[in-house]
Amino acid sequence: MKIENYSLKRNLQDPIFKGKQPLLSHLDIELTERCNNNCVHCYINQPEKDTNAADRELTTDEWKDILQQAADLGALSVRFTGGEPLLREDFTDLYLHARQLGMRVILFTNARLITPQLADLFAKIPPLKKIEVSVYGMHMDSYDAISRVPGAFLQYHQSINLLLERQIPFVVKSVLLPPNKHERDEFEAWADTIPSMDINLPYAIFLDLRARRDSAIKNRMITKLRFSPEEGLAFLTRDKDNYFKSVAQFSAQYLYPQGDLLFNCGAGEGGCVDAYGKYQMCIPLRHPDTVYDLRHGSIKKALTDVFPKLRDLRAKNPAYLERCARCFIKSLCEQCPGKSWTEHGTLDTPVEYLCQVGHAQARYLGLVKEGEHAWEVEDWRERIAQLSNEVTNPKNGSS
Ligand code: SF4
Ligand code: SF4
Repeated sequence: MKIENYSLKRNLQDPIFKGKQPLLSHLDIELTERCNNNCVHCYINQPEKDTNAADRELTTDEWKDILQQAADLGALSVRFTGGEPLLREDFTDLYLHARQLGMRVILFTNARLITPQLADLFAKIPPLKKIEVSVYGMHMDSYDAISRVPGAFLQYHQSINLLLERQIPFVVKSVLLPPNKHERDEFEAWADTIPSMDINLPYAIFLDLRARRDSAIKNRMITKLRFSPEEGLAFLTRDKDNYFKSVAQFSAQYLYPQGDLLFNCGAGEGGCVDAYGKYQMCIPLRHPDTVYDLRHGSIKKALTDVFPKLRDLRAKNPAYLERCARCFIKSLCEQCPGKSWTEHGTLDTPVEYLCQVGHAQARYLGLVKEGEHAWEVEDWRERIAQLSNEVTNPKNGSS
């Protein structure tokens, strides 16, 4: 196997490199929804041995065709996620195919299935992006309580050592849940020792409900595991000065009432292909009216014809028009069509939990007062200016 075959070589005569913006710069791919873990909080997983799910997944050739289409449109990177992408028996084949097409590969994994052979492959033909490993606990009792698979921790631990021994760059991220919350300091101290760990530790704290809307029981469990808005706020503001600085800058740029246009984000500009070939505008958005079947179409058609029309969709729900469309803190809360879909099965229903989290932050920042609703605030420009002023000139302000 010649390593030079996997360099980022591209035909420089290709129009995508001649001053034109490529149609696609990156593609997310959910190789499977199946997972060898069964995490208590998971929004997507199907059982590892679910043959019904496995039979519906795209074949190796279908995935290769999608990767080829992405490369032809200019994509320079692809993210393999899941479920657990390493469960696919053809993972190595697909990984090498993406690399041969000149794409960098971002791998989201729980790492349990990284074998010495796979680690050797990553050392020899690197993904060119750091592998992102989800860590569910620092010890067997916490990890296995969250993954709900006895022995999962030991397997994960061995795999991490394989990466460390071969100096394969990776970063870790986590989710704070009752079995591992008390290990946060230990986790952070360990993460500090990972040579390639040069980012702030990402934690999932505002958990998503099931993306397929397939289990009321699991949704009840996820709801119980969520941080309350107050707990979430305490976590977000654990470094108060930094929080104020970053949010003040963000507020000046992005906080304003966004009206009835549903998509004010990047949805539909890159997107995510699910395990069965449905092309989604973004990872959570699986509303059947917004997905496009790549088994009967092309990425190009979706990006040039289908998604642009969807991006023009406007909200119709009176509750949304009354609240979110007029709400100046919309970019502070995570309300979006994807979240509306997972919580309510619509594109335009306000999500109460996110609304509470958004308002808790806005109250903390002094942008809304106790008992006030953000969508009723008329002098929002002055309040944002005051926040910026307080952060820039701390002596004048209270933060
Ligand atoms: S490892 Fe990830 S995909 Fe698998 S069950 Fe856990 S959270 Fe879900
Ligand atoms: S804070 Fe509430 S009203 Fe405002 S955008 Fe979010 S969900 Fe809608």
